[in-house]
Amino acid sequence: MSAYFPTMGLEIHAELLTKSKVFCTCSAEFGGTPNSRCCPVCSGLPGTLPVLNQKAVEYIIKAGYVMNCDISRFTKWDRKNYFYPDLPKAYQISQMPRPVCLSGKVNIKVNGEDKVIRINRIHLEEDAGKLVHDDARHLSYADYNRCGVPLIEIVTEPDFHSADEVIAFIEKIKLLLQYAGICDCKMEQGSIRCDVNISIAPKGSTELGTRTELKNLNSLKAIAKAIEVEIDRQEELLESGERVIQQTRRFNEQLGETTAMRSKEDAHDYRYFPDPDIPPIIFTEEELESIKNSIPELPEQRVERYVNEYGLKKADADIIVGDKKICDFFDEALAVYNNPKAVANYILGELMNRINRGEADMENLKFGGADLAKLVEFMQTDKISQANAKAILREMIENGGSAKDIADRDDLWIKEDNDLLAKVVDEIIANNPKPVEQYKNGDQKVFGFFMGQANKALKGAASPKAIQEYIRKKLSE
Ligand SMILES: [Zn+2]
Repeated sequence: MSAYFPTMGLEIHAELLTKSKVFCTCSAEFGGTPNSRCCPVCSGLPGTLPVLNQKAVEYIIKAGYVMNCDISRFTKWDRKNYFYPDLPKAYQISQMPRPVCLSGKVNIKVNGEDKVIRINRIHLEEDAGKLVHDDARHLSYADYNRCGVPLIEIVTEPDFHSADEVIAFIEKIKLLLQYAGICDCKMEQGSIRCDVNISIAPKGSTELGTRTELKNLNSLKAIAKAIEVEIDRQEELLESGERVIQQTRRFNEQLGETTAMRSKEDAHDYRYFPDPDIPPIIFTEEELESIKNSIPELPEQRVERYVNEYGLKKADADIIVGDKKICDFFDEALAVYNNPKAVANYILGELMNRINRGEADMENLKFGGADLAKLVEFMQTDKISQANAKAILREMIENGGSAKDIADRDDLWIKEDNDLLAKVVDEIIANNPKPVEQYKNGDQKVFGFFMGQANKALKGAASPKAIQEYIRKKLSE
């Protein structure tokens, strides 16, 4: 048992899904040929004037509402001075004393326990560009396409005491932002990024230790690992009588260690001052109310609706809502075939099985929810057998296409061929006198044996219902 306990706070940066950048009309889309999405404003040429993107302001207000923040009626922008070559202006337009959102709270569930994480603030700023280092040639390249992409920074209170809590919170924030439609939260593309401030203190102590800030965390796995490694490092320092230095540290995933990047700046190091180019904003109650009312249904309400209106199990609803792609797919399916339980079962069963086995992934699925809905409907209405539905799903995953076209092409419809049904079942009964005897003596379990044999031989030529009825009839003769 460790003699110390860790305390952590997070700074989460999320890029907003606006079409254009925050202070100019350049595209805010990810990627692109380096420096092809730049103009004099976002590449920081002297004499240019930024114009604030209204959509970005709307989105940060939405972010504030979904995290239960107070929205400032008066907000303004500041210049944060720093010069790294990824920001050609040598200052970032950000917000210091008057951010758009203050003091929110977000509920998380960690190992079955509910916990509330307090949000200190959320402010709107511009993203910096990207540096690409070519070590072999001792060169660095600057790509300014990302310069000026609207960014919100979510700053939490130091309310975390384990990596599990941190991960649960980030997952919750991702869901909230995705459902609110303001960030796609693709960690691998950097549209959501997280820095962790971390300190340890002796158990029972009321004072926090000196903190370090972990940067360069590109996945939830890296975040969990970096926290573990940094806690160990700080413990070793304190145990050997040394002290922790306030600094920013980079996590190296390959080596599994954190290394010092620079001493951690305090706010005064940035010499913030009001940006003279962006006028402050005063929001009216009507404006805020209308933005609040435009927020789409959030994850918790969706789970509730799926349970109450659709009769899904809470655990099933949690899985569907827990991945927005699956949730949208489910809704799309229900619009075509309104049988929530059957559709949910097929998604969570057959489709998820294949996804878990790596045969399919939601990101690159070759068919939509509407196509899956038709397949489930054909099965539920005895037009296609379960076995043939599996074959059709496999084909849809591999090559796309609609269930109807595949069933037509491969002749997979149930034909209700009563003559064939009679012939096949009569034969099975004639060839298996022993199970027939058992059934007649009251052993109901052997019925499954006859169903299995008949299904196998008929290959979907008759519906399960017709097979069942015919076997029952014959066995009771
Ligand atoms: Zn621009």
